[in-house]
This record gives sequence, structure tokens and C-alpha cells, in this order.
Amino acid sequence: MSGLHHAPGGGFRNPWPGGALARLSGFLKWKVVERFTRPRAPDPPPGAFPVLAPAFHSPRAAPDAVTVTWVGHSSFLLQIGGRNVLTDPVWSDRVSPVSWAGPRRWAAPGIPFDALPPIDVVLQSHNHYDHLDDATVRRLIVAHPRAQWLVPLGLPAFVAARGGTTVTEHDWWDVAESGGVTFGCAPAQHFSARGFTDRNRTLWCGWAIVAGKRRIFFAGDSGYHPEFAAIGARFGPFDVSLLPVGAYDPRWFMRPVHMNPEEAVRAYRDLHAAHDSAARGAFVPMHWGTFRLTDEPMTEPPERAARAWREAGLPAAGFWRLAHGETRAR
Ligand code: ZN
Ligand code: ZN
Repeated sequence: MSGLHHAPGGGFRNPWPGGALARLSGFLKWKVVERFTRPRAPDPPPGAFPVLAPAFHSPRAAPDAVTVTWVGHSSFLLQIGGRNVLTDPVWSDRVSPVSWAGPRRWAAPGIPFDALPPIDVVLQSHNHYDHLDDATVRRLIVAHPRAQWLVPLGLPAFVAARGGTTVTEHDWWDVAESGGVTFGCAPAQHFSARGFTDRNRTLWCGWAIVAGKRRIFFAGDSGYHPEFAAIGARFGPFDVSLLPVGAYDPRWFMRPVHMNPEEAVRAYRDLHAAHDSAARGAFVPMHWGTFRLTDEPMTEPPERAARAWREAGLPAAGFWRLAHGETRAR
């Protein structure tokens, strides 16, 4: 499928109403004007984000088991179908083009890099620095040379330039198979860029992972959009859905590209609309508590998500607020 997300003349765009990005003047208004007129929330105290010891199965989990371990931000170790899968792996101390500046890490990676089990698949959602990390890509290619990299359209060159040899690129709704597990590339409402001249030259996406009846959804970065129900119908029902809840303030600037917690709960409900409520899986809030990117208090996203979850009448046991390093199984 080509689709409206392929921009005429090359590159990509969000095809839905409300998906247009704010302009550069908006970025300057946020970073310069609002720095004085609308001070951002204070930083959290030291130790606000504890790191637990992970409890994944080593080297691999049973084929019918599902485990989720939060490394931090949007980085997870997922065990499903007997495979070890990493999402948007970032082990660096900062997420920026340079090592000495930019958002720094508030919690150590939940799994020390050298404690990772053998990695079979690495999923990338897009090329922003808090998701695609130069140093981590290089380390993984050396330490886990057998890993297969699945990336959205336009990103293979980044991995190949760092020595990766098993990388495939995918468009929205593509399906790929690795070691008996199916990976579905899902639409997302976002954008891409690593510099000033490459905006939207590569695609952004989420990933569905399907191993028989065991299924996980990883949303990547996304604003709220109309396709979550279609993703759930096509690839669900999911045992676990990993949805971004942070980096939403100021709302006037972030709304097209980052859901707020209430929208993330709405997206979860959309994902399950095609399935009966008994099949509803867990919700894991991600993209918070590790790197400070925006103005909201760093501890606010999961609290607001938990409130929205309760107010929607969803079962408390289905809300998995993980600590860094925490593993849960289902
Ligand atoms: Zn992003
Ligand atoms: Zn992000």
C-alpha cells in the first residue's frame, strides 16, 4: 500500500486531520517566549525514579510466555514466542546529537547493557534521538550480531552505516516474520528528523508482535489518530499495549505528535474496540520518567493515566505502571 502518508515529491506526512505539525515559529515561541512567560514545572527530587532488578527469563522465556521489562523511556525487553525483542533501545546518558548536552537520563537503564540476554529482534519506531541512539546501535551490532533489525521506510542506511547487516525497512501495514513471530508495522501520527535538513525523510510507526495467540502492541511515538481501532482489529487482541503518555506540554505545540495520558487511554480503548472486553490486555505507560523533554512535571504522566484509566471503569489489574527495571509477565 502506498497511501496518503507518502508525500508527493518524497518523504512522509501524517494523513489525518489534526496531524499537521506546528511550524518552526511555534518551536521558537515555546523555547524562547514561554521560557519567560510560562515557566515549566520544577525538576523532580533525586531518587524520584527507583530502578528495580529485572526478572526476565535467561536466556529465553518459554514460547507461550510473555514478559515485559522496562529499560526506560520507550526501551523495553519483550519476551514473546520464545524470542527476545528490544524496542527503541537507548542506553546512552543523553539523547541528543552531542554527548555533553541535551536531555540527560534520570534513571539508570533498567537492564545493564552487559546483562541483556541474546537479542533476536530490534524494533525501531522512528529516528528521534530519544528512540534511535547512535552509540546503542553500534554496541548492539557488536554484542548481538545475530539480531534482526526491523525499521520504518528510509532508516536501514542508519543501521547499515554502523555495521548492521540484517536490517529490513517497512511501510505501514507491512508484515514481517522472524523466527516464527510476526511483526506488523502500524501507523502512527508523528514526524522524523535528526538535523535541520532531513525532516520527514524517513517514516515513523508502531509495531504489533504476534506469536500465535500471544500479542503485544508497541505504539512508538504518536499523537492521537483515528487508526488505533483498525490496528487492534488487524493485529489484536493484545496481551499488553505499550503506549506513550509523556511529553505533552505545552499542549498547543505537542498535540499533533504526542498523546497526553487521557488520549493514551482512549487509544487503548480504540485498540480493543473490535474485541470483547474479556480479551483486553494490560496497558503499560511509556515515554515518561527517563528523559525530560517537555514542560509537564516528570511524575505527572502515569498519575494522569491512572486517573483516566479509573474514570473509564477499566480493571485496576490491567494498569501496569512499571518501575525502571521492573519485569511483569502475563
Ligand atoms: Zn519522536
Ligand atoms: Zn520520543
